[in-house]
This record gives sequence, C-alpha cells and structure tokens, in this order.
Amino acid sequence: MHRAAFAHAGLSGTYDALRVAPADLRSAVADLRRPGVLGANLSLPHKEAALPLLDSLSGAARAIGAVNTIVHRDGALHGDNTDAPGLRDALYDAGYIWEQGAEVIVLGAGGAARAAVHALICGEQNVTVVNRTLERAQVIAADWHVPDADFQVTALPAHAAPWESAVLVVNASSAGLNDPDQTPLDAAFLARLSAGALVYDMVYKPAETRLMREARAAGLSAENGLGMLAHQARLAFRAWTGADVPVSVFLNALQADAPQPGPVLPQGDAPAGDQG
Ligand code: NAP
Repeated sequence: MHRAAFAHAGLSGTYDALRVAPADLRSAVADLRRPGVLGANLSLPHKEAALPLLDSLSGAARAIGAVNTIVHRDGALHGDNTDAPGLRDALYDAGYIWEQGAEVIVLGAGGAARAAVHALICGEQNVTVVNRTLERAQVIAADWHVPDADFQVTALPAHAAPWESAVLVVNASSAGLNDPDQTPLDAAFLARLSAGALVYDMVYKPAETRLMREARAAGLSAENGLGMLAHQARLAFRAWTGADVPVSVFLNALQADAPQPGPVLPQGDAPAGDQG
C-alpha cells in the first residue's frame, strides 16, 4: 500500500516490513531517529509497549492507550493512532450515517475495540461493548466514563445488549481472523437487529467472514475491514509525508496483493477527514 502511495505521490521512498521481537522493541524504536526515516507502523504486540518509548503522543493515542503510527521529525518521535479515524472514514464509505446518540455495539475489548470506542464516542454515538470476557469490556466503559455526558460507553453481556435499537455493530474482536468458521456472535443476536443496521467486521481475512455471511443472510448490510486498513494507512502516509493520496490507491494495492471481493472507490476520491 505505502509503496503504491509513494509512487502515486511522485515521492522517492520505501516501506518495509520488519519483524521485531518484544525484547528488541526499544532498539528498533531508537533506530527510527535516524535521518531519512519518516516513521513506522506498529502491530501487535508492540502497539501498547511502544508508548513510553516516544517523545509525544496524540490525544487519540493517549486515550486509546495504543500507537499504530510513529512519526519521526528531527530526531523526535510522535505516537499517533490512525485506527480510530481509519474506522470512522471506512464507516462513512460504507454508507453509515452518523446520527447523534445512535446505539452502536462493539464486539471485543482489545486495542482495536478501544480504537473503535474512541472513534464512535468522538462521533457522539452511544456505545455498548460486548466481549467474551466481560471484565475487559468493563475496563473500557470505565476508561471512557464521563459523568453527565450525553453519550456513554456501557459494558454488557451479549444477551443484555440493545440489539433491537442498534444501527451499527463493529466486530473489533479477532474471532474469524484466518478462520472462516469462527464468529464472535450467535446468529440469533443478528436476527434481533433492525433491517437497516450495518455490521462492520474489522477482520479482512477472509474477505467474507462468517459474521458477514450470517449478517447478509439476515438481510443486513455487512462490510469487511479492508476499508479501515486502507484509511489508517492513508492517514499514516499523510502524517509522514504531508501527501494526501486517495484511499483508492491503498485499496487497489491491497486488492492487487490479494484479489478478493471488497470495497473499491473511484480514483481521485477526496480523503474524508483528518487524523482525529
Ligand atoms: P486483541 O487485543 O488480541 O483483542 C482480541 C479480542 O478478541 C479480545 O477482546 C478477545 O476476547 C476477542 N476474541 C478473540 N477470540 C475470540 C473468539 N473466538 N470469540 C469471541 N471473542 C474473541 O486484538 P486487537 O488488536 O484488538 O485486534 C482485534 C481484531 O481487529 C484483529 O482481527 C485485527 O486484525 C483487527 N484489526 C483490524 C484493523 C483494520 O484496519 N481493519 C485494525 C486493527 C485491528 P477476550 O478479551 O475474551 O480474550
């Protein structure tokens, strides 16, 4: 994706994957301070561990407690989280209409769920977190608790979540990742959602998860996580280079890499929003 973005922007630069053992994270992060390095993305398990190694953090990274993007400027390292605005922009692309106070349900309680909750609360949605381990969902609810706020984060077991009034379900759990038979949700809960609800699965491999299949069978809209992946990359690329590359460049590079069904936007679409 990022190599395609460099080419599209007419910039010389490259992006490489680097496997880093947890014990080597400190020195790998220190290496980013070298001249000529624009920054890095982090994936599990480094997203949280890197926080104390950075010189500054964005508000989103601090609230979520995880960094997926590091930006290097003159020897200083700034940590950001583009997963949250990446999800926001992917939801716009999926046709989700952000109505103030709408009921939404987030499945999962790891870093991706925290990014989702941050994006949804910033979008003034009422969030219910449902997770296999309820105690982890309760930590998220406590972290985002603002007394007297109009929009709340609540942790509930699945049977008590507001399915009938929910307009969006975001799967931020890793159930279904690389396993087409796994799902985080009993189909009986999908049947309780109203016809216009959207099921957004952050998982993008396989391109159609069991959750998406069952949601579509129940007459609901369903989308995989490719759009979020492309948007978080677009926002990271902009933070590193200042270049606004259309999300279609990232999506098309992803699809060229793994030809599968998924969202494709027309070339030249305007980027939706900033990094939040
Ligand atoms: P994580 O920190 O490991 O959290 C995983 C979560 O999934 C936990 O809440 C866990 O529940 C739950 N879970 C795992 N297996 C489950 C199962 N079989 N049934 C129900 N719940 C299950 O992972 P993460 O970093 O938050 O990432 C979660 C997912 O989001 C991954 O699939 C990742 O690829 C995806 N993601 C996508 C994007 C994107 O751009 N599309 C960006 C970030 C992440 P417990 O708490 O009970 O263990």
